[in-house]
Amino acid sequence: MAPLLSIEEAQRLILERVQPLESERVRLEDAAGRVTAEPATARVDLPPFDSSAMDGFAVRAEDTPGRLPVVARIPAGRPADRALGRGETMAIATGGAVPDGADAVIPLEYVVDHGNEIEIADEALVDANVRPRGGDVRRGDVLVPAGERLGPAQVGALAAGGIADISCARRPRVAVLSTGTELRQPGEELGPGEIYEANGVILTAQLRTAGAEPERLEAVEDDDRAHRDALETGLRADVLVTSGGVSVGPHDLVRSVGRDLGVDEILWGVAVKPGKPLWFGVRDRTLVFGLPGNPVSTLVCFELFVRPAVLALQGVADPLPRFEAGRLLRAARPNPARTELVRARSAIVDGGVELDVLSGQESHMIATAAGADALVLVPAGTEELPAGSEVSYLRLV
Ligand code: AMP
Ligand code: MG
Repeated sequence: MAPLLSIEEAQRLILERVQPLESERVRLEDAAGRVTAEPATARVDLPPFDSSAMDGFAVRAEDTPGRLPVVARIPAGRPADRALGRGETMAIATGGAVPDGADAVIPLEYVVDHGNEIEIADEALVDANVRPRGGDVRRGDVLVPAGERLGPAQVGALAAGGIADISCARRPRVAVLSTGTELRQPGEELGPGEIYEANGVILTAQLRTAGAEPERLEAVEDDDRAHRDALETGLRADVLVTSGGVSVGPHDLVRSVGRDLGVDEILWGVAVKPGKPLWFGVRDRTLVFGLPGNPVSTLVCFELFVRPAVLALQGVADPLPRFEAGRLLRAARPNPARTELVRARSAIVDGGVELDVLSGQESHMIATAAGADALVLVPAGTEELPAGSEVSYLRLV
């Protein structure tokens, strides 16, 4: 194995090879989780008209305090058919159109209601409880920029702004291939030396949260022919993610078969624990990730290297993992040569995030990892990090 790359170098080499996918029109109801390919602009002012923020009475502020006749009632969606005259009031519902002539709304609870007349004891301020037309956004202004992943608030803004469909990056098609003669599917009987296949579902779950369309291929044995057929199928996708078979053993065939099939090797070996034998290459526009087989290595390598690529394919401007700041509950001993991502449980303590590193950090320990909600970044080093040390961590979603 060549000298190991740093995590950042490997991420840079990977992202350099990403060419964003083409876009397609997506109906708004299907758009959550998708990435915008163009800025979306409001089709209307928001609110589209001066609207009432309260259930109450529309008035001219200058007529208050006073006793005013109620000349109309304005529900939401049914504006008054005339302007408010001097010395008059109209009852109005929240979201109702404030009539021409009115410049304030007095909430119900501040008037004495006599039916056809109300009494207002205090002076109203101009604009009180009126949401001005265009106060949220103006027609033609950008609601959501290009390259933004649409969450609930963003799709809500698009809907409110009158957008029915939007141009988004096509979802990346990602083939998932697990390798290993020892693998059986959950539900089957295990024979001697066999284990259940976990990486396929780990990667499928991660890919879904990254906006990709996963396509699981059937797991393959450590056999040249089987690898060749399955890799060739996987290479038709936008991204091929394999697990297992990228280390230095005689049964590790993914690299050699990949190279035979024309995959151009970009990197092999990163100074990260777990995940050292990570392999990455390209064939035409297909990105190929060979992840090490231990389930925790697969989980970690996806977050550091595959998710950023999948997001970048969709045009996300800032696709690298978002580390946050926390502190260690207990002392931790770094690995001398490799940056380590240790599994931890987070808690909010005294307004900060405290990270409890789980015992059982070996890369096959997926059951232990199931108790974690965070990956703590422990830089390579020789000095122990004392309890309370400030660290960066990545939230597992
Ligand atoms: P490899 O990278 O192929 O040498 O695999 C490393 C370790 O991960 C071995 O113990 C494998 O049995 C295990 N492993 C490989 N693939 C999977 C998988 N899909 N699910 C669970 N364990 C796996
Ligand atoms: Mg293997």
